[in-house]
Amino acid sequence: MSRRKDKERFLANCRQNPDYKGFRGYANDPSRSGNTPLVAVNCSVCGKKRNVPVGVAEEQGDGYVCMTCQDEQTAVEATGPSSQAP
Ligand SMILES: [Zn+2]
Repeated sequence: MSRRKDKERFLANCRQNPDYKGFRGYANDPSRSGNTPLVAVNCSVCGKKRNVPVGVAEEQGDGYVCMTCQDEQTAVEATGPSSQAP
């Protein structure tokens, strides 16, 4: 009967593990990756060179999209059809 405690533990886990997959957005943030080796990759959207963890670079390759562009795309998707106001 202690669901609240479970949630607190979950949140504490998120803070202690920057790589925790359950927490959106920071898993591949270069500023948080600590001892993860980084590699320079050009963003396929804005064309700027970004330092990303090698795992992300291998996974996304030429289709890599930097955090800034990902944020913009997410914002567009969140706005969605409602942008056509009557
Ligand atoms: Zn970009």
